[in-house]
Amino acid sequence: MKIFSLPETVAALLFDMDGTLYTHGEYARVQRELPLRRLAEKRGKTFAEMDGIVRRLGDEWEAGHGGKKASLGTIFEALGVSIAESAAWRGELYEPERYLVPDPALRLCLLALASRYALAVVTNNPVSIARRTLACLSVRDLFGVIVGLDTCLVSKPDRAPFLRAAELLGVSPSRCLSIGDRYDIDIAVPLELGMGGILVEGVEDLKGHLEPALAR
Ligand SMILES: [Mg+2]
Repeated sequence: MKIFSLPETVAALLFDMDGTLYTHGEYARVQRELPLRRLAEKRGKTFAEMDGIVRRLGDEWEAGHGGKKASLGTIFEALGVSIAESAAWRGELYEPERYLVPDPALRLCLLALASRYALAVVTNNPVSIARRTLACLSVRDLFGVIVGLDTCLVSKPDRAPFLRAAELLGVSPSRCLSIGDRYDIDIAVPLELGMGGILVEGVEDLKGHLEPALAR
C-alpha cells in the first residue's frame, strides 16, 4: 500500500473494483480477452492480429501521454467502439460468478469502514457487472453508490466518474479518498481533483491495513 495523500478529514472512500476489491489473475486476463475477441470477430481479424493492434495503440497512447497508461475502453474508442458499446459488451460477456466467491475478511474490513465513511465503487466496468461482482464477494450492501462505465459514458482516468461519485455521496471532493490498484487510472486524477489517493497491490492490502492507515 502506498499513501500518496490523505485529506485533512476523510468522509468518503471511492474504491476501484477490479484488482482492488478482489485479486484474480485468470478473471483479469479474461476481462481483456473477451471484448478483444468480439472486436476481432467484428473486424474479420484473428485474435492475435487484434491483440497486436490494441497493444500497439496502447503503446502509442502511452508515448503521447507522458508514459501514462490508457484504459481498454479508451483504446477501443480509438478503434471506433463507443464507450456505450464497450459497456454493453462487457455486460454481456463477463461472468464474475465463474471466478469470484464471498470474501469474509474483506466484508469485515469494509463493515468497519462503512461505520465511519460513505463507500462508493468507481469502476470501468458497467454498473450491472459491478453489482454482480460485489454480490459475488458478498459486499454489495456496503456500497451506497456505484459509478460504472455506463454512468458517465467515459472511462477512468477521466475526472467525471470520480466527481459523479462524490456528488452522489454528497461529499466534497476534498473529503474523498480514492483507492485503487493502478496509479494512472485510479489515483493521478483524484489527486488533481484535490482528493486523497492510496495505491494498493491487491485486496490483501486493504484487509487490516486500510483502517489503521486512515485512523492516524
Ligand atoms: Mg483496478
